[in-house]
Amino acid sequence: MSAESTTLYYQAMNRIVRERLGGLHSIELLMWSVDFAPIAQMQADGDWQAAGEALARAAARLELAGAEAIMIGANTMHLVADQVQAAVSVPLIHIADATADAVKAAGCSRPLLVATRFTMEKAFYRDRLKTHGVEAMIPSDAQRERLHAIIYDELCQGVISAASKAEVLAMIAAAADADCVIFGCTEIGLLLSPEDLDRPVIDTALVHAQAGVDFALG
Ligand code: GLU
Repeated sequence: MSAESTTLYYQAMNRIVRERLGGLHSIELLMWSVDFAPIAQMQADGDWQAAGEALARAAARLELAGAEAIMIGANTMHLVADQVQAAVSVPLIHIADATADAVKAAGCSRPLLVATRFTMEKAFYRDRLKTHGVEAMIPSDAQRERLHAIIYDELCQGVISAASKAEVLAMIAAAADADCVIFGCTEIGLLLSPEDLDRPVIDTALVHAQAGVDFALG
């Protein structure tokens, strides 16, 4: 989706392949890089049908070009994961499945989900986590609004602000009951790093990239 996290995914997948295979090895993939502005507008308008169609078209073209699995490089757009999956005959590697597995692997069960308003508030994401036995908490309404603005107005546009970082860290500190934190937006890792926090961190971009490499290396 945003070019910022597309870059993160590509770098992470190449790093993981190099760590596993060594030397000059790198990831073999096909990428459909979208213009995020019209998609973000469809999200804001609640036109998920059109946003889903745009992604379904891209996925079908990737399959035609030889892709053997599809990944949507974001959490929010998994709202249309079923629409995308219906457009292809190859599997869709779902970011929430990889995330739930990572939460459990960290020995946790009560994560704080830090994400866009759509991901935090709509059922598609937290319900998917629940099917894996993971019950996510979300920040307060005012905090969700602020997070959403930080993601779209700053992180997706490559703006990294120390003040915003302090704000998000304070939100996380306030959620004392959470036993880990899900960076449930693929750009959050640009703002915060696991060392900033006193609890385990599940960075969805990284665990999803890892799941993609697992598939690719079979
Ligand atoms: N990349 C973000 C996410 O993981 C938000 C922007 C988008 O809709 O892709 O949800």
